[in-house]
Amino acid sequence: MGLRDLDTGAVRTVNCRYLIGCDGARSIVRKAIGAELSGDAVIQRVQSTYIRAPGLIDRQRCERAWGTGAINPRRSGMVYAIDGRERWLVHNYMKPGEGGFDEIDRDACLRTILGVEDDFNYDILSKEDWYGRRLIASKFRDRCAFIAGDAAHIWVPYAGYGMNAGIADAMNLSWLLAAHLGGWAPPSILDAYEAERWPITSQVSRFAMSHAEAEIRRRGSVPADIEAAGPEGERVREEIGRLTYEINVQQYACAGLNFGTYYDRSPIIAYDGTEAPAYTMSLYTPSTVPGCRTPHFRRADGSSIYDAMGEGFTLLRFDSAADVAALEAAARVRGVPLAVLDVEGADIATDAGNGLVLPGLVLSRPDQHVAWRGVRVPDDPLGLIDRVRGAGG
Ligand SMILES: Cc1cc2nc3c(=O)[nH]c(=O)nc-3n(C[C@H](O)[C@H](O)[C@H](O)COP(=O)(O)OP(=O)(O)OC[C@H]3O[C@@H](n4cnc5c(N)ncnc54)[C@H](O)[C@@H]3O)c2cc1C
Repeated sequence: MGLRDLDTGAVRTVNCRYLIGCDGARSIVRKAIGAELSGDAVIQRVQSTYIRAPGLIDRQRCERAWGTGAINPRRSGMVYAIDGRERWLVHNYMKPGEGGFDEIDRDACLRTILGVEDDFNYDILSKEDWYGRRLIASKFRDRCAFIAGDAAHIWVPYAGYGMNAGIADAMNLSWLLAAHLGGWAPPSILDAYEAERWPITSQVSRFAMSHAEAEIRRRGSVPADIEAAGPEGERVREEIGRLTYEINVQQYACAGLNFGTYYDRSPIIAYDGTEAPAYTMSLYTPSTVPGCRTPHFRRADGSSIYDAMGEGFTLLRFDSAADVAALEAAARVRGVPLAVLDVEGADIATDAGNGLVLPGLVLSRPDQHVAWRGVRVPDDPLGLIDRVRGAGG
């Protein structure tokens, strides 16, 4: 592939066995592999302005916060504290049906959101207008070229999941590639990337979109008397505040999206027929159902289980008497890195309702998802090792 140095203009050619396009929403790698984006092209439009306004902080009448929302029927927006003193990012959420970005009076909107009059001074440091979208590439791979992050999926930045999802893509693809390039997995292990990440991407993007739409509806129905003085105004503010909290607490504390997602149709996971627990944007149930994120818990000495895991697979053993020699031997035969970690006495958040029988064994992958679980080592340990390394047939 050709690389051009933007500073010097020098061009050089690089030969590589694998290529990952982490080149953002306009990804040329996505286009090169023939993947097409589909979904919802425009969910919301936002005029964003980064300003320097030293006089703003002293005018704030509400509690100081990183993010402050302005809600009224004229204009709703968010104001983010960038340096905690004088730099602010102001999002002006454009109303459905409003004209183009340039037809909207940026200054007037900004003053409405900030609650300041014409005599208030600020400098614009930069501005960027953007669309909230829900678009997913039709495929994440063509032979040895992959796409990850915004190159593969773009969605409305609700629940702050865009970057998190990109990191999850990288966690996933990096261990699969390392396994193959390290010589202990066939190239077929790479099929798991799209099989695992595409459905999650699709699912989560819909969560994010439906919450964004709820927020857009709320913004569009703010009663005119929200700024009224007296008990009636108080009642309206309280009601809108409650609704705003209920919608937004989920996006700002989105543990479900980050920890509850699971891979339920992977070629390299040994399923046991148990359904993974459902999750919402904010809530999830820690579970050892294969495909789920390995539950986090503390060991008897208080240390984190994640810190004790090996770099490859980790077999969590809840009963130190359980004989795991056959699985260790099978891993050795195939060159699969496997560490055994005794976790007896740990403070375990069990998922008894989902079929985990303790004491038991849980095989955790390098990306901390459960590859297999059982009460004892299976009768065909080599078969299990082959499945989780992508040679399962
Ligand atoms: C207003 C807003 C708020 C957001 N808030 C959050 C949040 O709170 N939490 C969150 O998780 N996500 C958030 N996101 C989403 C997040 O910013 C993106 O999902 C994330 O930046 C995507 O990372 P990426 O590395 O895939 O792509 P990018 O960040 O776009 O990086 C791609 C890089 O590739 C480079 N590049 C492109 N083409 C080439 C080329 N041909 N050669 C060399 N380099 C190239 C680009 O210059 C760029 O540096 C937000 C997005 C927006 C718009």
